[in-house]
Amino acid sequence: MAEKKIQAIRGMNDLLPTDCMLWQQVEETVKRVFNSYGYNEIRTPIVEDTALFKRAVGEVTDIVEKEMYTFNDRNENESITLRPELTAGCVRAGIEHGLLYNQEQRLWYFGPAFRHERPQKGRYRQFHQFGVEVFGLTGPDIDAELILLTARLWKALGIAEHTTLELNSIGSLESRANYKQALVSYLEQHQDRLDEDCKRRLYTNPLRILDSKNADIQELLNEAPKLFEYLDAPSYEHFEGLCKLLDDNGIKYNINQRLVRGLDYYNRTVFEWVTSSLGAQGTVCGGGRYDSLVSQLGGKSTPAVGFAIGAERLILLIQSVNPELKSNNNIDIYMISSGDKTLAVAQQLAEQLRDVMPDKRIMTNYGTSNFKKQFSKADKHGAKIAIIIGENEISANKVIIKNLQSGEQFDVAQNSVAEYCMNIMD
Ligand code: ATP
Ligand code: MG
Repeated sequence: MAEKKIQAIRGMNDLLPTDCMLWQQVEETVKRVFNSYGYNEIRTPIVEDTALFKRAVGEVTDIVEKEMYTFNDRNENESITLRPELTAGCVRAGIEHGLLYNQEQRLWYFGPAFRHERPQKGRYRQFHQFGVEVFGLTGPDIDAELILLTARLWKALGIAEHTTLELNSIGSLESRANYKQALVSYLEQHQDRLDEDCKRRLYTNPLRILDSKNADIQELLNEAPKLFEYLDAPSYEHFEGLCKLLDDNGIKYNINQRLVRGLDYYNRTVFEWVTSSLGAQGTVCGGGRYDSLVSQLGGKSTPAVGFAIGAERLILLIQSVNPELKSNNNIDIYMISSGDKTLAVAQQLAEQLRDVMPDKRIMTNYGTSNFKKQFSKADKHGAKIAIIIGENEISANKVIIKNLQSGEQFDVAQNSVAEYCMNIMD
């Protein structure tokens, strides 16, 4: 019997060399923008104690109820989990290393997260998040900064015209509890119109019903009590302050009272950047304030606000906006050699070129000594320039430099190849 072919795990994608160029460019842009606001990178482990996510994300959320990759470590009674998001790990690390209490921290991260969801476009089981977490600041000014930062990022990535900002305040834990009661008693009066999902959530996580995708439920919610009517005064002021700052900075937003976000730990400000260009998986970035999470995880009470961007969705959006965008894996200079001792010279020259042009991609031909085949390999790699070394060139201490776009070629002394190339390449 033939053995089963081994394939990647469903919902976990390979990023092939042609994908990775675009990923690298996007990663660079995102990091540059994060750094430009003075934020610092933090890297935490991919696996954490399961209790961390149960406590941080919340027992009755979709993530903890049914999406986590949880297993026992070899040490049988230690339950560990592949992180379904990165905020919990950040907070855990911040507490563990004393980074949070009485301090300000502006952090960013990038890395994979894992959720056992139904794979579809923009929704995977291993995906990547870019995110920011700020600790120690309570005012709406920092909430506004996070939104300004993301707006700047969309511009830098060329997708500003394709994203809109949805904004809401979900108030304090207390005001939300009052609202929950009002919402539940309203929904109880309309039990017959609830779908299975909503019935299940009615007593576990009723706020999540607000972002139900079911049109009947949406209609039912039009008449439901409004979260805003239950907002506590300080939360309301905070929200007004944020709106004013966004207005002052010319940031457009849509106040969406149904926006509640999936994770349990948010309070006051919540926001999402959404796009209509990706179908059902339209949320590219989600975030908000989570002032109680640090103390919930055993640290001293510290205000916090953050967001996470889904990297796959971001890249899908960039590609859908620029359908002609091709990843550029081209190399700049291709070293061609044929004949006795020519390869050694080619290799040494390539090393010298890398010394003076560290950002250029310089590839040396190996394997075939046939000139025609080497030129076609140079073409295949999109090389701009070929440096050609045959036995004649060795004896004359020179090389031929050929511009593969124009076809022009020149003899250049070996000891001025580096200078010559620097002059002709921008
Ligand atoms: P959704 O409502 O789309 O399931 P979420 O509220 O579960 O999103 P968050 O936990 O806020 O998402 O994660 C932040 C961002 O990470 C999302 O806005 C999205 O861009 C991305 N994301 C979340 N889950 C996935 C996934 N399974 N695959 C790809 N990207 C994801
Ligand atoms: Mg989700």
